[in-house]
Amino acid sequence: MGGIHIIDVTNRDGVQTAKLGLSKLEKTMMNLYLNDMGVFQSEFGFPTTRHEKNYLQANLELAEMGVLRPIRLAGWLRAVAADVELAFKLVPGLKHVNLSISTSDQMIQGKFLGKKTRENILETMVEAVDAARAHNAESIAVNAEDASRTDLEFLVRFGLAAKERGAVRMRYCDTLGYDNPFTIYDTAKALAQNTGLGIEIHCHGDLGMAVANSIAGAKGAIDGGQDAYINTTVNGIGERAGNADLVAVILAIAKSKGFADKYELAEQIDLSKSWRIAKFASYAFGVPIPINQPGVGANAFAHASGIHADGVLKDTSNYELYDYLELGRGESEMVETGREICTGEYGGISGFTHVMGQISVSFADPREAHEILELVRYANVESQKPLVEEELLFIARHPEIARKLLTLTPLDHT
Ligand SMILES: [Zn+2]
Repeated sequence: MGGIHIIDVTNRDGVQTAKLGLSKLEKTMMNLYLNDMGVFQSEFGFPTTRHEKNYLQANLELAEMGVLRPIRLAGWLRAVAADVELAFKLVPGLKHVNLSISTSDQMIQGKFLGKKTRENILETMVEAVDAARAHNAESIAVNAEDASRTDLEFLVRFGLAAKERGAVRMRYCDTLGYDNPFTIYDTAKALAQNTGLGIEIHCHGDLGMAVANSIAGAKGAIDGGQDAYINTTVNGIGERAGNADLVAVILAIAKSKGFADKYELAEQIDLSKSWRIAKFASYAFGVPIPINQPGVGANAFAHASGIHADGVLKDTSNYELYDYLELGRGESEMVETGREICTGEYGGISGFTHVMGQISVSFADPREAHEILELVRYANVESQKPLVEEELLFIARHPEIARKLLTLTPLDHT
């Protein structure tokens, strides 16, 4: 029996969201938090986008150094051979790729405007898979964009054609959030049975069913005899109404009625890192966590009504499905209410050494302190908000990696 793997796409779908984004350091922190949590793979960015180049290469270096391990870092790009060539040129260390192309008649007609047929879609995708294989990609997955509005028969052909050329997984994208748990279960099961590929489930919340659809799709893939891979984002941040929330998906798999008995997470996930990653994503994106967010919302463990408060005081299991401690909540947090010294893009050495001293970082000599300050200034130029403690620690620990992350060279077409 297969298991359920988590592929987090915050650094791809999350940052594609209108009005929202992350700095390269914030994206790196996200990969580190996901790795700490035990997530199988992070879709860490766009290897054909030039401003991503140094960030992607620096994160691959962190993987080589063992800092970002065992998480797998996968690049996302269009399933077009020329894009694959560009990706491996810009990011030579790339190992895992997800190649995406639209498969529905709606998109073929409405987006490609009659310039492509279904056969062209298959040919284009196969050429891209061949190109990725020629570059010795360790794993190749293909994405069927708008799969939920694509005929099953064509999706099976798409999957089989990809598999024949060496793809290991197929991503079923419910790009518009059109599926419901019943339809996605049937489709994922049929795809698993008929393609023999691992099935990725990629859901959006346009009809409020992203998490429910994700676990139903995963169940379908497993019942069809294959491993399931659920795409999540931290706090559900993603295009339009968002993606399936990472913490909610893990909770749904681990805690919902009768699910974990048969359909288990393939990796050991440390749920106690949930609070930290959700808080960081909220700060970095500048989007508050909804008060009623599963597990990490301010009201997730709050009780006011007489009957509930009385019940939970007698036995928490009366009105709580799981304990806040499991999510890493419960520690008190320091909030400065008086004088505050910050460091930032216009900061000086005195304020900086004070801030670093508070988190027990000291420097060997003034030159080192000045170097780290310079990197912190640049990181702040990118993020435009005070760096959190863990970002400052990261820069102090890995100055060379930080320098690469912060190096942006526009119009450098070398
Ligand atoms: Zn998406």
